[in-house]
Amino acid sequence: MKITEITTQTFTYTSHTTRDSEGHTHPGPAHEARQTLLRIATDEGIEGYAFGVNPDVIRGIVAPMLLGEHPFYRERIWQKLKERQRLHLGTLSDRVLSAVDQALWDLAGRALGQPVYKLLGGFRDKVPAYASTMCGDDLPGGLDTPEAYAEFALACKARGYPAFKLHTWQPPMPGAPDVKRDIAACTAVRAAVGDEMPLMLDPFHYYSREEALYLGRALEELHYYWMEEPMDEHSIASYVWLTEQLALPMVGPETAEGKMYTRAEWIVRGASEISRGGVGDLGGITPLVKTAHLCESFGVRMEVHGGGAANLHVLCAMGIPGEYYERGLLHPFVDYEQPAPWLNALEDAMDDEGFVHVSQKPGLGQEINFDYINSHLVK
Ligand code: MG
Repeated sequence: MKITEITTQTFTYTSHTTRDSEGHTHPGPAHEARQTLLRIATDEGIEGYAFGVNPDVIRGIVAPMLLGEHPFYRERIWQKLKERQRLHLGTLSDRVLSAVDQALWDLAGRALGQPVYKLLGGFRDKVPAYASTMCGDDLPGGLDTPEAYAEFALACKARGYPAFKLHTWQPPMPGAPDVKRDIAACTAVRAAVGDEMPLMLDPFHYYSREEALYLGRALEELHYYWMEEPMDEHSIASYVWLTEQLALPMVGPETAEGKMYTRAEWIVRGASEISRGGVGDLGGITPLVKTAHLCESFGVRMEVHGGGAANLHVLCAMGIPGEYYERGLLHPFVDYEQPAPWLNALEDAMDDEGFVHVSQKPGLGQEINFDYINSHLVK
C-alpha cells in the first residue's frame, strides 16, 4: 500500500462561539466560520481523515514528504515530520503533526476493519467524563459569577457528569485575574454539589508562586481533586516549589512544548503528581501513547487533555488512569449534545451515568458528513 494523494477541503459552517483576544472560547453571535478536512488516500482505495489543518502547510511541506510512503509506517513518518520541525517550527506545528498522525491511524483502522483503540491495545470501551467549562465571562446568566458556576455545576451533575472542572476568569475579562474570585467560585461550586463530587480547577496561567500557593491551599480546604497550570509551565522550578508544599495533586504540563520529552523532565524533577497531554499538545496519537507508557513506567498517572475521537481512543488503550475524558468546553448557553455540522453524530456521546463510549467502527469512527462538506466548500 502506498500514499498516492494528500488533499484538503476547506468548508464553511455557522459557529455559535467566538474567541476573545487571548484565544479563549465563549458563546457569541452566530457567524460564518471555516473548517478544513485532511484526506490521505492510497493506491488501494483506502483513505484516512482528520480535521483542522492549514492547507498551505499540507501542500507545501507535508505532502511531498508523505507521497509514496506506506501509510502503516506511522512511526517513520512521525519521526520525519518531527525532525523537519527544527527549521520549520513557524508553520509545521505539533497540531499539524497531530492531524497527519490521526489521519494515518484512521486509515489503518479503516484498512484493517478495526477501531483505533483496539489496534493500540484495547483496555476498556468507555471512560467516565468530567464536565469541563469554558472560561469565565461577563454574560448575565452565563459564567459571570461564583453563583453562576454553582448553578451550572448542579445542571452538569443532574446530566450525569461524575466530576466537574472550572476554568475561571482570564484576561481580558473585567477584574481577571483574581485569586480570591477564583476561590469564591470554587467555594460556591463545592457548596452546591456537596462533598462527594470530584472537582478540579484550571485558573489563570500566569499567577506568581505565592498566588498559586494561596489558591492551592484554599483548594485543599475545599477537597478539590486537582489543579492545572496556575503558573507559566516553562518554569519547572516553580512547579517543583509548589508541588513540594501542596498535598493537592498538580496536573501538568499541558501547554509546555516538547512532546513526551518535557513530560519525562517533569516526572524526573517531581514537578507534578499527575502528568498531562493530549493529541493536540503532543503531536498526535503516536506521541500520546508514548507518553502514557512513559508515565506507566514511572508509576505516574496521566490525565488526557481535551476531547475528541483521537483522545478517546487513546484513553481506551491506556492501562493506567487516564481516569477521565474531558468533555467540553461546556457553557449554559451552548448545546454540546449537537454534533458539529460536518459530523452525523457526536464523537463523544455520554450516557446518563456519565460514561463516554468509544466507537466500534473502523478507524477513529467519526461519522463524517461528506454531503455537508461538499456542499459548503470554499472555492
Ligand atoms: Mg488545562
